[in-house]
Amino acid sequence: MPEAFIGLGSNLCGESEGVYKDPKMQIQQAIKKIGGHSKINILAVSSLYQTGAIGPGDQPDYVNAAVKIETSLGAQGLLEALQLIENQQGRIRVERWGARTLDLDILVYDQLIENTQHLTLPHPRAHERAFVLAPLMDLKPDLVIPDRGKVIDLLANCSMQGIVRLNN
Ligand code: ATP
Ligand code: MG
Ligand code: MG
Repeated sequence: MPEAFIGLGSNLCGESEGVYKDPKMQIQQAIKKIGGHSKINILAVSSLYQTGAIGPGDQPDYVNAAVKIETSLGAQGLLEALQLIENQQGRIRVERWGARTLDLDILVYDQLIENTQHLTLPHPRAHERAFVLAPLMDLKPDLVIPDRGKVIDLLANCSMQGIVRLNN
């Protein structure tokens, strides 16, 4: 089955299923939802990280993580499944890179390279983001981001951008 790596991020509290959730809880709920999908198996989960926001304005810190999955969904189908989970957790798109309750990005899908209107693989900014590379390091240091290199080498060349591993 194809293997993929999903990046998760949250920097807003939100209410879903009648419960108020902080960013850490949003990430934990999203991991459960991903694992609960009939066509997705979670193979490994990274630590959670607290990271300073890089988007516009004065935004709260993010909680970030990554998961390794296997899935019988194609890349496009996987993106749709992830967007459904984002929406279920109250994702509202206001401005690009604005604060959000949940962001689910496909970082790598097998070694696929693809550039369509709605999906770019690998994720175009994964290789330069410490908040993506540090969780990937927990999962697979020798993972190759196609055309970019191994996670371990990319992280070594990336400033840590104020990211802290959370005890979880
Ligand atoms: P960034 O891409 O810099 O992490 P973002 O995650 O905040 O920004 P979103 O608003 O979540 O951006 O997504 C914008 C669009 O990006 C989505 O509608 C989706 O179609 C597209 N997209 C392209 N490639 C990917 C990918 N690999 N994973 C997730 N979304 C993607
Ligand atoms: Mg993103
Ligand atoms: Mg996104």
